[in-house]
Amino acid sequence: MNFHILEECRRCLQCRKPSCTEGCPVGTEIPKMIRLLLDGNINESGEMLFRNNPLSAICALVCQHEKVCEGHCILAKKQSPIQIGNIEHYISDYYLNVLDPQREEAHNHRVAIIGSGPAGLSLAFFLVLKGYGVTIFEANEDIGGVLRYGIPAFRLPKDILDRMRSRLREMGVKIRPNVLIGSIVTVDELFRDGFDAVFIGTGVWNPNKLNIKGECLGNVTYAIDFLRSPDAFDLGASVVVIGAGNSAMDTARTALRQGARSVRIMYHRGPDDIPARDQEVQYARIDGVKFEFYRKALEITEKGIDCEILRRPEGAEKDPDGEPGGHVFIDADTIIVCISQGPRSNIVSNTTGIDINNKGLVVVDDCGRTTREGVFASGDVVTGPRTVVEAVAFSKRVEQAIDCYIRERCTAGCPPGPRRRKNPSK
Ligand code: SF4
Repeated sequence: MNFHILEECRRCLQCRKPSCTEGCPVGTEIPKMIRLLLDGNINESGEMLFRNNPLSAICALVCQHEKVCEGHCILAKKQSPIQIGNIEHYISDYYLNVLDPQREEAHNHRVAIIGSGPAGLSLAFFLVLKGYGVTIFEANEDIGGVLRYGIPAFRLPKDILDRMRSRLREMGVKIRPNVLIGSIVTVDELFRDGFDAVFIGTGVWNPNKLNIKGECLGNVTYAIDFLRSPDAFDLGASVVVIGAGNSAMDTARTALRQGARSVRIMYHRGPDDIPARDQEVQYARIDGVKFEFYRKALEITEKGIDCEILRRPEGAEKDPDGEPGGHVFIDADTIIVCISQGPRSNIVSNTTGIDINNKGLVVVDDCGRTTREGVFASGDVVTGPRTVVEAVAFSKRVEQAIDCYIRERCTAGCPPGPRRRKNPSK
């Protein structure tokens, strides 16, 4: 066993009221996970993690540990916190190869899951453990959604998703890839064909636009399109990424790995305002990414970006947008726009009764029930872009609501939510 992992486990104080668990959005029993490992029960530890969070192996790699479990570890106050992410990864990555959890007896109820990103994937595992027949409908050729097509392999190795696909199939989950629900197969048709409930976890795949002149030129792309298949792009020598979130760091680091000589991140605010995780910014700097702060894109040409220089007002401690201070032209062969995403509308525009808000996000109550009876949703398509573990936490509540709805036709019991309509196809 890895010596470092054991050393970390032995440092854990096994707190009676573990603040690490309180800081975890899915309440992972961290001291128990560590205790089981130290006692030689890695499978038991892995199963405990998996039942609580089927995406444990992924969260262990991509969670913002400094903000959740590790940030809440009691040891963080005086020394370094327990490296919980590394320990969880060791256990969950191992367990994913041997995973064979006890399941409830299979019954005849079936659930259609549209989208296999974090929300849909975790829900599929939760439901199949309860004996449901689960079919995943995926628009892409493989499962994973943003995990496969939005996070680069150097941060999240794709073999984890491949192993999850194998485990899902072994557990009886049907996966239908390359199918667009909404325009080709409709929600009404899913109910017609015997699904008792439909879950929408389609994420956010429409890039936000700058809405400036030149955005349609051939040297411009959106991060979500670039990260999906970086090999499809001829970047040239110099790349500018507009935006400074985690996805922008992923984009910049991927561009360097694709052969770009110079990659700069352009941001309209200052270094203290960067929305990306500190760790991601540091890795970007290590990889050689440079930063252009207080630059606002005005127009894109085939040679680069005409920018307005924004300056921090004198005396201001933290400046949101700065002040105009002239123009600068930033040369770039390729410009990648990375200023967040919104949902696509192909499902809600092809069915009735599913309300969306003014941002196009699906309206649900606290249990993930949409305004249409029998249709549930969670993840980014409801909340906008959030973390993987938040999507898992939401899907846990949805799983209970679906189970309650199907077994007891229960449409109440959760905190007050939006008004629901009867399913028009039933
Ligand atoms: Fe161990 Fe830190 Fe959690 Fe205490 S708070 S149980 S020391 S990981």
